[in-house]
Amino acid sequence: MSNYTLLDHLDLRSKEYLAVQWIYTNRCNFSCHYCDPEVHNSSTPELALSTVLPFCGRLIKYAESIGKKVYLELTGGEVTFLPDFGEIIQSVRDAGGHLGINSNGTPGLSWWKIYAPQLDSLMLSYHHGFSELKHFEELVPYLSTLPQLKLHLSIMMEPEHFSSCLEVAEKLKKLTSGSLTLQRLVPELSGQNLNFSYTDQQLSQMTSFNKSFGSKQWLQKFKDKIGPKKPMPRGGLILSHKNGKNSKITSSDLINRDLNHFKGWTCQAGVENLVIDRFGKIYRGWCLEGGLLGDINDPDFNFGLSPITCQKDSCCCGFDLLSKKVSP
Ligand code: SF4
Ligand code: SF4
Repeated sequence: MSNYTLLDHLDLRSKEYLAVQWIYTNRCNFSCHYCDPEVHNSSTPELALSTVLPFCGRLIKYAESIGKKVYLELTGGEVTFLPDFGEIIQSVRDAGGHLGINSNGTPGLSWWKIYAPQLDSLMLSYHHGFSELKHFEELVPYLSTLPQLKLHLSIMMEPEHFSSCLEVAEKLKKLTSGSLTLQRLVPELSGQNLNFSYTDQQLSQMTSFNKSFGSKQWLQKFKDKIGPKKPMPRGGLILSHKNGKNSKITSSDLINRDLNHFKGWTCQAGVENLVIDRFGKIYRGWCLEGGLLGDINDPDFNFGLSPITCQKDSCCCGFDLLSKKVSP
């Protein structure tokens, strides 16, 4: 990264939000081989609503105290199967927070018709071998009609099933009014040090496909749909080169193009975003840089954090990549 000086948000409204990603459950109806078993093996008891709801209130107050609004992103596992899902989203919305979820999309259309209109964003992932294309072909057009919803599709690109995954992406691209990326699999997220080898052709196919979603035409369509007041805490990025040139880039492409190394850079993880693990422990980011900050059971917290100097060789998580980083 010695040729680069800055990674920043494409949309300056991002700075108005404290983005909080919470791995709320490790139950999932899929068991993708590239996913760390700890993420989907149901080993952790569900959190009690009597703990979660007061915590959400404290979190929103904390964000207000630093002049930000909370944008909470629930992920798993698969959060759509949580028995308390409706109460959680209602409570966050009542307290003035914004809410997004990550999901593999499994519930039927009738479920989505109840809950999707209450969400600000949805990151839908497609998993070869588990996801049903027919269901996605029905679901994506419906979700695309919701004016408040920032929809993103992520196709998990298994190297051995690359052409099938690409075919799915081409079909869904025509049906979505949101964004769509081809997601490269990385060993760090498998928890098993798996090696995912892509050919040069596959790597360049992923890069050029993803680039087509950053085109001027697409950005215009996206902005028209979102409108000027839509919460946009996370999304596109700008990468600044030493020669003064700026280029738009996505977190997936930072990984695909091996541009995810920020050791020695100053990073806003903890200032712009927080993460909560499935035990309720709070950190700056999934890299765990800066160590443990607190717990959802803490009666009060005031992190008062300043940016941190990155000590990691790689920044491997899409959420972590979406915070501002400045070279030394
Ligand atoms: S759907 Fe997501 S959480 Fe579930 S096993 Fe696959 S990658 Fe893991
Ligand atoms: S690894 Fe952590 S500290 Fe380093 S750049 Fe990524 S988010 Fe920031």
